Amino acid sequence: MGRLGFLFFFFLFSLCLLEFLQFFCLVVVVDAKANNRNQLSLTPINRDLYHSGEDLMEEIKALVNRHPDKLLLETVKSGNRDYQAEVKVVTYCRRRQESDDRSKFRILLSFGQHGRELITSELALRILTILSEERFLPNMDPASLNSTLDKLVIKVVPMENLNGRELVEAGDLCERRNGRGVDLNRNWSVDWGKKEKDYDPYEENPGTAPFSEPETQIMRKLAVSFDPHIWVNVHSGMEALFMPYDHKNTTPDGIASQRMKLLLEKLNHLHCRERCMIGSGGGSVGYLAHGTATDYMYDIAKVPMAFTFEIYGNEAASPKDCFKMFNPTDTDTFNRVLNDWSLAFFTIFELGPHHLGQIPAKASASKSEKWVSIDEYLEGYLMERSSRYGKKKEVLELGLQEIRTYFRLFLLSSVLLMFMFCSRISKGKCTRPIVSAIPL
Ligand SMILES: [Zn+2]
Repeated sequence: MGRLGFLFFFFLFSLCLLEFLQFFCLVVVVDAKANNRNQLSLTPINRDLYHSGEDLMEEIKALVNRHPDKLLLETVKSGNRDYQAEVKVVTYCRRRQESDDRSKFRILLSFGQHGRELITSELALRILTILSEERFLPNMDPASLNSTLDKLVIKVVPMENLNGRELVEAGDLCERRNGRGVDLNRNWSVDWGKKEKDYDPYEENPGTAPFSEPETQIMRKLAVSFDPHIWVNVHSGMEALFMPYDHKNTTPDGIASQRMKLLLEKLNHLHCRERCMIGSGGGSVGYLAHGTATDYMYDIAKVPMAFTFEIYGNEAASPKDCFKMFNPTDTDTFNRVLNDWSLAFFTIFELGPHHLGQIPAKASASKSEKWVSIDEYLEGYLMERSSRYGKKKEVLELGLQEIRTYFRLFLLSSVLLMFMFCSRISKGKCTRPIVSAIPL
């Protein structure tokens, strides 16, 4: 009986081993197939719609040269540990000689902080073209536009992450970090370096210390010296209008927060067809982000209205198909995004000073509750968390499917084998007494 038991368990053990090996081989094959499939269907950069980074900056330079009365282009360079970076800054002031007038309302806009989000820099060019009056907004009265712009100084960083953008154009279409692998939107000092459970250095490497990166250093200096009233960090990947905080799932208290919320509500209504997600970055996007520019601008640089806009996202795109996921690929959508969002920015130019000047008597309390509702947050959190790093999700899903199938097969074959063994054992047990009974 002991020997039979041993044989039985040995057989079961071998069976388990075999099943495991089979499962392992199949997962590898399925993954390889999935990879092949994705590689085949990757969307390349549409060169008919998008400028190369170099051409875009050249075009901006030419635009500035054509309008020296309104525009100024400056290049700021910095570097450390064998890494060099430069950031180009365009300053707009309707009468340029007044650009240092501190009574003017100051707006700082950054585009292209993540390399793969090409559409954002195209929007920067579009806004500058409209500001220079080479292009006009539909249904915008020039007289009222001019009186709006008279009050402003606008600084635009069209492509914050030039080195990262180069990597994208060289073929690494999913790269969002800078030229040495640091995420420029995790390199700021507010709650820097904290890592969530599903932290992926490919996406969110915060660098060796807050402000370790030259690009972030340049942006911080620019923010501190310019001291803007409004900051907007423009990204793509979804459609959203975010305000602080990114590192926690709440919005700040008080009037400042209410002003921001009201402005975002208006923008959503006027230019986003109510589609945009609104609220704190950390509470709405589905994950907390630590060390972001917008949290720094609000908390440390004391910019009264600090935002992150997400201007486009294609959720239907495969997570590895980054150009398609982060950028419109057809002419109609490309133009629609640029039109809608340049209008949104001109609404900010018009309403921003009003919103800061006149504090509304009553902000919509019911809505502010809704924004930080823990149920909604958790729902979003659970839903979005899995897609935070799209490329992981796909592999995970394939893996899970295989595990389910093989677990079922494994159970079935184990039950069958056990049944066969048991029936043999019981056969053996039954036959012996019969044989021994024969002599009786
Ligand atoms: Zn981004």
